[in-house]
Amino acid sequence: MISGQWPIGLLGGKASEIRLDQRMMQQITVDIVILGGGVSGLWTLNRAVQAGYSAILLEKDQLGGAQTIRSQGIIHGGVKYALHGALTTASNAIRDMPVIWQTCLEGSGQIDLRGVDILSDAHYLWSRESLGARMTAFFASHALRERISRVPFHARPSLFQDDRFHGAVYRLNELVLNVQSLIKKLAEPVTNRIFQAGPDDYHLETIEGNVTALTFPAHDLTLRPKRLVICCGEGYEAVAKRLALPSPRMQRRPLHMVMVKFKRQTAPSLYAHCLSGGTRPLVTITTHYTKNQDTVWYMGGELAESGTKRDVPGQIKKAESTLHELLPWVEPTQAHWATLRVDRAEPKQSTLTLPDSAFVAQHKNLIIGWPTKLALAPDLAEKVMAYLPPLEKSTLPSPPVELAILPRPTIAEAVWDEIF
Ligand SMILES: Cc1cc2nc3c(=O)[nH]c(=O)nc-3n(C[C@H](O)[C@H](O)[C@H](O)COP(=O)(O)OP(=O)(O)OC[C@H]3O[C@@H](n4cnc5c(N)ncnc54)[C@H](O)[C@@H]3O)c2cc1C
Repeated sequence: MISGQWPIGLLGGKASEIRLDQRMMQQITVDIVILGGGVSGLWTLNRAVQAGYSAILLEKDQLGGAQTIRSQGIIHGGVKYALHGALTTASNAIRDMPVIWQTCLEGSGQIDLRGVDILSDAHYLWSRESLGARMTAFFASHALRERISRVPFHARPSLFQDDRFHGAVYRLNELVLNVQSLIKKLAEPVTNRIFQAGPDDYHLETIEGNVTALTFPAHDLTLRPKRLVICCGEGYEAVAKRLALPSPRMQRRPLHMVMVKFKRQTAPSLYAHCLSGGTRPLVTITTHYTKNQDTVWYMGGELAESGTKRDVPGQIKKAESTLHELLPWVEPTQAHWATLRVDRAEPKQSTLTLPDSAFVAQHKNLIIGWPTKLALAPDLAEKVMAYLPPLEKSTLPSPPVELAILPRPTIAEAVWDEIF
């Protein structure tokens, strides 16, 4: 072993070499290789490195570039599920998420997220008319009292201080984050452990279902992970096929999101679910800003779910009429409209009705996870950590050395900057 010669950082792993023809094949043993650089892979990498594991992350395209960058950035605490009548006083993981994130954002949590751009310190619920007595009583109940409060007129978001508005507004203790700034912040402390490599870049070796090596022929490099953590979102399907994994199975839930861009900052900000009589918000609106400081309303909820059946002009028309119906005093003049089709990737479970905790499963030395919500990334990482074997003294990290062989992924652009 001549570790001083390695162009690859040891990253706390062990290096050795074997001679292949005239070439040297570098071999690096690491505790953990994580596949996928969305919020779940990045959060897990941070936790694993903090705990002393030698860990690296491979991202096939861009950091955050799949579901994460397309998300609305709401740190849900589960109140949305009250609409299903399914929120109970039982301790679901999701109800703890706003507090866990808040401590991270203040710098006293598991990961230091100080500096992440907080778009709103609350998300709101609004209804066109006053809510029915049953719902009003439920929101006022002991179970929800600390998480949801009725907002008096003067404290409402400006949009709901219009005389033409006759409904109710509730404030949820749920933050809304600028997701691109979150990805940057999560990558920062572990940047020298993140590399760009996709399934076409390496061969996978397995022994009795355990992944023993990822061999990169173009780089004369073999990574030998003790655990392979798969946080690939919908990329899991291809990995599962390659490894002939029978389970867990994945499902996609398609969405057809809508964006409306207002010139400069001519539109007020809005972070809210609109309640109807149904079990899910009619529309969920979050506000974001392009690089040119234009304002974008990003619209999901029922509009995006039912919109999968509409073509682009039909979906835009539906969004326009929905806005007109719900907020008739908002005039989206000089607005530019666009839509975005995206699938949510989740475990296929007959019982999966509400994503109230992250899903993590182990198969041999593979750990497979979907957070099912950005907000649940801390829960996912916690569960992955619980599957890791106790740390061996020999794998305690050495100071990471620059890894020069594999390229680095960039951070994904915000979707509005890509689209408009
Ligand atoms: C429109 C929309 C809005 C949403 N809004 C919210 C919200 O407001 N709040 C909330 O809590 N949740 C929200 N979600 C859900 C949330 O975005 C996802 O649950 C979360 O981002 C999933 O993160 P992830 O890291 O598991 O997956 P992803 O973000 O999909 O990341 C997977 C990564 O793996 C990479 N990859 C794939 N295959 C491979 C491979 N073989 N090797 C290496 N890398 C690979 C991909 O390139 C990608 O970067 C929303 C989802 C959508 C689609």
